[in-house]
Amino acid sequence: MIPELLQSQKEYFKTGETKNVAFRKQVLKHLKTELIKRENEIIEALAKDFKKPAFESVLTETTVVLSDLDLMIKNLSKWAKPKRVIPALLNFPSTDRLYSEPFGQTLIIAPWNYPYQLAIAPMVAAIAAGNTVLLKPSELTPNTSALLKSIIDTVFKPEHVSVTEGGVAVSTELLAQRWDYIFFTGSVNVGKIVAKAAAEHLTPLTLELGGKNPCIIDETANIKLTAKRIVWGKFLNAGQTCIAPDYILIHHSKKEAFYKAMQIEIDKAYSNNPSTSKDFCRIVNDMNFKRLAKMLDNEKCIIGGQTDAKIRYIAPTLIDEPQMDSEVMKDEIFGPILPVLSYKNEAEIETTIHKYEKPLSLYVFSTNSAKAGKIIEKYAFGGGCINDTVIHFANHRLPFGGTGNSGIGAYHGKLSFDTFSHKKAVVKKGNWLDLPVRYAPYKGKLSFIKKVFKWL
Ligand code: NAD
Repeated sequence: MIPELLQSQKEYFKTGETKNVAFRKQVLKHLKTELIKRENEIIEALAKDFKKPAFESVLTETTVVLSDLDLMIKNLSKWAKPKRVIPALLNFPSTDRLYSEPFGQTLIIAPWNYPYQLAIAPMVAAIAAGNTVLLKPSELTPNTSALLKSIIDTVFKPEHVSVTEGGVAVSTELLAQRWDYIFFTGSVNVGKIVAKAAAEHLTPLTLELGGKNPCIIDETANIKLTAKRIVWGKFLNAGQTCIAPDYILIHHSKKEAFYKAMQIEIDKAYSNNPSTSKDFCRIVNDMNFKRLAKMLDNEKCIIGGQTDAKIRYIAPTLIDEPQMDSEVMKDEIFGPILPVLSYKNEAEIETTIHKYEKPLSLYVFSTNSAKAGKIIEKYAFGGGCINDTVIHFANHRLPFGGTGNSGIGAYHGKLSFDTFSHKKAVVKKGNWLDLPVRYAPYKGKLSFIKKVFKWL
C-alpha cells in the first residue's frame, strides 16, 4: 500500500500540476475553508485526546495554522517567482536567477503534543512549495489523527496529499522508502532513527527535536511577573511542550520569593485544586504518566506533587533542589514538573547548562539587559526569550528550530516555504560578448586573472 501510494505521488508530480502556482493557491484556499468549517471538530478531537482546553486549542493549534495559510496564500506568487541576483563580474555579461524548485515527494512525521498544528503547518509549507505530501500523524492522539485523515481526504487527491495513520511499524515502513525530503518532529532518539533512514538515500531532512531547556532567573528579576510568565509557558499543554522551560536556575536570594509567587500564580490560573480546572490538560497516555510520576519519587515537591493515574493527572509541581543524577534531571521532562536549582555564581549556571546537550530553548529573566544579553550570547540553543517563555514561537519572522541535538534546520514564515524548496542557481550567459581571458592557452593571463580576483 505505502509503496503504491508513493509511486502514485511520483507519477502525479511528474505531470507538473503541483508546480502551477495558481493550482497551489487554489488548493490552499480550499484547505483553509475546510479547516475553518471543521474548527469545532478539531477542538473536540484535541479535548478527547488529552483534555486540551478549547482556548489553548485555538491559541496554539488552529489559529497558528490559519495564519500560516494566510501568509502562504498571500506571498506564494512572490516567493515562488525566480529571483534575480547580482551577477558575478567574472561571468560578465550574465543574468543570474534563483529558482525555488519543489523537492518532489515529501514525508512529514508528526508528534502528539501539538498533534494538529505540528502536522498541518509543515504540510501547508510543503504544498505551497509545490511538493506532494505523505503525512503521518502520531498514533498517541488517535482522535486528532483520524480527523486529520478525514480532512485531508476531503480536500486533496491522495496522489497529491495523503495521510497514513499508524505507529512505529508504519513509520518504519515509510522511512524505508525513498523520499525527496523528510520533515520530522519528535524526540531525539527517534530523530536519530529518521536521520539514519534518510542517510540511506541521501535524502535531505529537517529534524525538529527537543532538549532540556534552562530557565535562568537572576537576582534582579521581577519575581511576580517572572512567576506569572513561567506558570503560563510551563503548564500550557500540561508542560508537554518542546519549548517549555525544563528546569529553573535561580539566584539563591530569590528562591523563597519565587516559590511564593509561583503558588499564587498557579492558584490564580488553575485554582487550588488544578485537577478540577477546565484549563489544565491531562498527560497523553499511561506510559508517559508513569514516566512522569516516577520523577516525583523521593523528591521534595515544594508545590503540587499530586497524581491520579485513572485520569492521567499530574498537578503543576515544583521540585526543590533535586540531585543532578535524579530521574527528573536526566532527560527532557515533557510534563508539568519543574525542578528548581539555586545558584550562587555564574560558574554554577555554566556547569549545569553544559552538563546537557544544546537545548531547543533557553530563557533568562533579568532586569539587567547587559547581563541577560551576555547569557544569550554565551550559550548555544535553538531560540528563546528574555523575560518571557515560549513566545518566540509566535513570530513567523523568527526561524524555529534547534541546534546540535535539539534539531537540524528550522521553519516558520517564509523559511517554511524555503525549507521545502531546493534553491536552484542558474546563470544565463549573454552571447553578445565573449571575453577570451578564461580560455586556454593561458600564457600571459595569470597576472591579469589575479588582479581581477583582487577587485572582486
Ligand atoms: P516521538 O519521537 O516518540 O514520536 C514522533 C513520531 O515518530 C510519531 O509520529 C511516532 O509514531 C514516530 N515514531 C516513534 N517511534 C518511532 C520509531 N522507532 N521509528 C520511526 N518512527 C517512530 O515523539 P513524541 O513523543 O510524539 O513527541 C515528543 C517529543 O517531540 C519531545 O522530545 C519533544 O521535545 C519533541 N518535539 C519537538 C518539537 C519541535 O518543534 N522541535 C515540537 C514538538 C515535540
